[in-house]
Amino acid sequence: MSEKKDYYDLLGVARNASDAELKTAYRRLAMKYHPDRNPGDHEAEAKFKEAKQAYEVLSDSQKRAAYDQFGHAGVEGGGMGGGPGGFNPGDLGDIFGDIFGDIFGGGGGASRQRATQGQDLLYHLELSLEEAVHGKTVEIKVPTLVSCSYCSGTGAAKGSSPEKCTTCDGHGQVRMQRGYFAVQQTCPTCHGRGKMIKNPCDHCYGQGRIKQQKTLSVKVPAGVNEGDRVRLAGEGEAGQQGAPAGDLYVQISVKQHAIFQREGNDLHCQVPISFVMAAIGGEMEIPTIDGRVKLKIPPGTQSGKQFRLRGKGVQASRSGRTGDLFCHVMVETPVNLTKEQTQLLEQLRVSLEAGGIDIIHKGKNGLMEFANFLRV
Ligand SMILES: [Zn+2]
Ligand SMILES: [Zn+2]
Repeated sequence: MSEKKDYYDLLGVARNASDAELKTAYRRLAMKYHPDRNPGDHEAEAKFKEAKQAYEVLSDSQKRAAYDQFGHAGVEGGGMGGGPGGFNPGDLGDIFGDIFGDIFGGGGGASRQRATQGQDLLYHLELSLEEAVHGKTVEIKVPTLVSCSYCSGTGAAKGSSPEKCTTCDGHGQVRMQRGYFAVQQTCPTCHGRGKMIKNPCDHCYGQGRIKQQKTLSVKVPAGVNEGDRVRLAGEGEAGQQGAPAGDLYVQISVKQHAIFQREGNDLHCQVPISFVMAAIGGEMEIPTIDGRVKLKIPPGTQSGKQFRLRGKGVQASRSGRTGDLFCHVMVETPVNLTKEQTQLLEQLRVSLEAGGIDIIHKGKNGLMEFANFLRV
């Protein structure tokens, strides 16, 4: 088995290169060594294949993580195709030797150890106002990483299991002598896990987790509001090689409602009434979030008047307190009157004007205030 070159070196990028940098580097090499541009040049063809293989691995986040951890052994185990031979335990020393060099200068062991835990996930869920107020059980589909079923999340191939790391004797930490000082450092061989996988699982490339769409049933409690989050502990990404999973947060957003606007736990709505109802009063049905109720309109109700219906708002999910419903009355002017109706209103006008100013509303911005203003 010939010695394989480092994929990062092959593409000429740093180990922390971004996806865009990888792509640019690969394109440059592919243009240079493409067989169509170098007919009959076997060396160019070989270089083209190397670059292609390196890019295929490093552009796939899961394979890249496996490569970073295990080197070539991590990505040649199965399903990759193209790679000669396969996994050779004899290579391990050298592979880890290379990584050792990288890490020793870098420090930062703690973050590496944490990185093996599964990430938290955020899922956006849009509900109608009714659903948010009454609560709902929703089925959601989340693309995530789940524990690999072939190796039960250990990352070790079937029939093998992770072994105690010999460098740190399973502690995950090693003592390094630096001049006069002895420093504790994350073990460069196992990255703090205390375990080593000599024979990575073919299905998850030794990561112990695979990409999958997970279906979950989420119980959204009654009374949630825009921006609220429901936490599902342990339903985030699976951890690497059996490390703890992250959490899943379901963030609620609420669609605009045709009638109600929510302010805190109160609801507001506009109630159109006829000018006759406004003048002589009456009773009408109005909608609430829990169905219809009767509302009494007293005689002489002005447009913009607000009626408060206690307890007809939203019951808060946390405090359990219930808000109110505010109905804002809007007096509607009749349109497309018949001749007869117009005559009736003419009679009414004559009657009203004969009756004097007393029957006119005297409140602020009322007709009388307006009339006085004009007279000045
Ligand atoms: Zn596996
Ligand atoms: Zn170790």
